[in-house]
Amino acid sequence: MRSDNDWRLQGQEKYLKGIKLVRRKYRQYAKNPDWDHDHCSFCWVEFCLKENCDSLKEGYATLDDYHWICPTCFEDFKDLFNWEVVSEPNS
Ligand SMILES: [Zn+2]
Repeated sequence: MRSDNDWRLQGQEKYLKGIKLVRRKYRQYAKNPDWDHDHCSFCWVEFCLKENCDSLKEGYATLDDYHWICPTCFEDFKDLFNWEVVSEPNS
């Protein structure tokens, strides 16, 4: 649930409002192969690739994989941010 002054909201509307998101398994940001994990843009829950960690393995990403949003935050903020969920672009 979202509250009126939700601690997770830190100005993300500047770069995340009205954008397209795709639901996919977590993967590394292609431009920076040194990263093995990421954080939800709202609650900072961790996404990670390592087998032995219990972080999230799937979530909603911007099309360039730069920003990741966990399913909980997606549900809480989707009406506020007007996200458009698109299917995985065919490569
Ligand atoms: Zn989150």
